[in-house]
Amino acid sequence: MAANYIQNEHKIFRESVRKFLEKEAVPYYDQWEREGIIPREFWRKFGNQGFLCPNVDEKYGGLNADFAYSVIFNEELERVGTSLIGLGLHNDIVVPYIIEYGSEEQKQRWLPGCVSGEKVTAIAMTEPGAGSDLANIKTTAKREGDYYILNGEKTFITNGIHSDIVVVACKTDPNAVPAYKGISLIVVERGTPGFFRGKKLDKVGLHGQDTAELIFQDACVPVTNLLGEEGKGFYYMMNKLQQERLIIAISAQVSAEEMLRMTVDYVKNRKAFGKSISQFQNTQFKIAEMATEIKLGRNFVDDLIIKHMNGEDVVTQVSMAKWWITDMAKRTAAECMQLHGGYGFMEEYPIARRYRDIPVAAIYAGTNQIMKNIIAKDLFKD
Ligand SMILES: Cc1cc2nc3c(=O)[nH]c(=O)nc-3n(C[C@H](O)[C@H](O)[C@H](O)COP(=O)(O)OP(=O)(O)OC[C@H]3O[C@@H](n4cnc5c(N)ncnc54)[C@H](O)[C@@H]3O)c2cc1C
Repeated sequence: MAANYIQNEHKIFRESVRKFLEKEAVPYYDQWEREGIIPREFWRKFGNQGFLCPNVDEKYGGLNADFAYSVIFNEELERVGTSLIGLGLHNDIVVPYIIEYGSEEQKQRWLPGCVSGEKVTAIAMTEPGAGSDLANIKTTAKREGDYYILNGEKTFITNGIHSDIVVVACKTDPNAVPAYKGISLIVVERGTPGFFRGKKLDKVGLHGQDTAELIFQDACVPVTNLLGEEGKGFYYMMNKLQQERLIIAISAQVSAEEMLRMTVDYVKNRKAFGKSISQFQNTQFKIAEMATEIKLGRNFVDDLIIKHMNGEDVVTQVSMAKWWITDMAKRTAAECMQLHGGYGFMEEYPIARRYRDIPVAAIYAGTNQIMKNIIAKDLFKD
């Protein structure tokens, strides 16, 4: 049954995204995994269909659509495979920074390209020496006349190779106390002098996903590329993390649902000791346990989607969902692989890829340990 935030227009949107992915992504997905990147052309095709950034206002080419469209978009991407997360990151994580904190001039300059797929976006917070401890980043942006001069290095950046617009977290005041008050967000564009791409990173999973290092060596960025106000970057990032983490929880939930679906199919067909392995009590109990956890995850995430759409502050609950659902999906992956026997370890079976792809959901967008810190902080506050 569809969740109660889903209306008819959302169902139509889901159908068209699904059909498009069946035709334009499913047949090529294995090839993209081998090549280690999704072709740039795919972004433009997506944009042509009107699927990119439907949340953008109509005057910049979007549909002014609600968050239910984002939910559907990310769910359908995940059904095909986690390597498509870069598109979800563009739609629901990076572009919202421009929508919320961009000036009118910046919106006019960047948003139409984000909608059409001409401009791919990324967000660069993490550095080789600082991930969870974001206030401790070292990349600096020194003002010189009408420019910021950026120096530093970012790593693990989703869409790092394809990106044309990178929202970079950097220190405009490296001596600020506390340190987070010195962080600003500056947009660095493709072609900026002193901005280089590093390695495309070789990962355990998400093989089709473009993840890269970015390097700034006296990168010369016009001051007009500052997003919002100087020194507010940390606050802006914290403000946006509710949606970012909710998206990760939604994707992990769909991944768990997919793994269960493929495993139920498998155990019905595989035979051992003269019967289908679905007839063994162990198989049935494992499936029953997983189905129960997946149902709990679904109810939790659907409830949070509605609260998020209503503009409620659900940071603590989203942190709960992010750690619990991603851990649940990891457990699901291990159990489902086990129920596939040796075939589960073969690349030919999609459970193998799911097993490789899911662990990172417990790491990015804030590790699950950081999620528990947030929850505990809220529980112990005065
Ligand atoms: C595939 C992929 C894509 C990514 N995409 C992006 C992106 O687009 N943009 C971006 O900016 N970043 C991105 N990241 C980076 C990601 O957000 C970080 O890896 C993550 O925040 C963890 O930081 P770290 O790797 O430095 O680990 P660390 O911070 O070094 O953590 C190492 C371990 O210590 C634990 N730990 C750290 N602090 C605490 C604490 N206070 N209490 C308890 N435990 C703690 C962590 O939970 C973890 O288990 C991506 C990462 C990956 C792997």
